[in-house]
Amino acid sequence: MLMTDPATEPHAATEPDAVTIDPDAPQYNATLVRRIDQHESLAYVWVRFDGEPTPFEPGQYMTIGVFADGKLTQRPYSVASDPRVARTEGYEFYLRLVQGGTFTPLLWTLPVGHRMRMIGPKGKFVLEPGDDRMHVFISSGTGNAPFVSMMRAQLAAGTPRRAVFLNGVSHVRDLGYVDLIEGWHASGEYPVTFIPTISRPLLSENAGWTGRTGRVESIVGPVVAELGLDPADTVAYLCGNPDMILSAEQTLLGLGFPEDAVKKELYWPKGKEPRGVAGAADAAVVATENADQ
Ligand SMILES: Cc1cc2nc3c(=O)[nH]c(=O)nc-3n(C[C@H](O)[C@H](O)[C@H](O)COP(=O)(O)OP(=O)(O)OC[C@H]3O[C@@H](n4cnc5c(N)ncnc54)[C@H](O)[C@@H]3O)c2cc1C
Repeated sequence: MLMTDPATEPHAATEPDAVTIDPDAPQYNATLVRRIDQHESLAYVWVRFDGEPTPFEPGQYMTIGVFADGKLTQRPYSVASDPRVARTEGYEFYLRLVQGGTFTPLLWTLPVGHRMRMIGPKGKFVLEPGDDRMHVFISSGTGNAPFVSMMRAQLAAGTPRRAVFLNGVSHVRDLGYVDLIEGWHASGEYPVTFIPTISRPLLSENAGWTGRTGRVESIVGPVVAELGLDPADTVAYLCGNPDMILSAEQTLLGLGFPEDAVKKELYWPKGKEPRGVAGAADAAVVATENADQ
């Protein structure tokens, strides 16, 4: 996986037009303490509260923002880290730069050490206590983040749960947390089967990929059948692109999963485009660049 050091590498983000980000607004209560770029439009970032961290449950999200031209610009992000490291490392997020977006192009310009506002947690997309069913985590793009937090926390508590982890992306280089999850599987530390899938296998940059192909929703049915997953003993968590979620949900319900065994976290309302996209021609290009799988 390509990693760049943001301290030395320039960021390839689209520069937001003449927006002034306040470096030190009184409402800031946190700091961007670390950043690892996977490539020019995917990054792992860590934000730490100046004071005591707020407790959260794995699967919940925080809202982070900065003041830009005097206005607080903020967005919600699933936490990817274990709550136990909030005081030391901060809250880890796995982010995509959305071309034509409002907040992410600003975030991409922030140096490590920049102050921010962070509030939360919020959300009900969490594990059920003591749930010993098979857990199927289904994600597109950065929708894998809450599952990483859930698994890190379960592992730290010594209670890893049987899991199948599906993640769909467009390009091999977009796959995140691969070493972590494959490492858990290889060591047997966490009983997880990792099933990444690439939706555009014919692109030259994906040459050599020998894993699954197609959008993640298209492999849900086959994976359930191949692994012999019993709807009565399985709980599914779906996170990311709304079209993926609604399609995968239909598949699972059709296979006999009870409605309350299919849990969902939509990263944006179905059919919504980034706010900064102006003309229709531009919108088509931007939609391709932003496609998370
Ligand atoms: C509960 C929740 C948790 C979230 N967690 C994450 C997370 O962990 N990581 C993350 O990258 N995003 C996450 N998001 C999405 C995030 O809040 C923003 O919508 C996203 O960063 C774009 O913000 P923006 O201001 O740059 O774009 P905006 O101007 O707000 O444009 C939003 C549009 O960008 C597109 N978009 C939004 N998110 C993505 C994405 N991840 N990949 C591709 N296209 C996208 C959609 O078309 C959406 O309608 C989450 C959203 C919700 C509701």
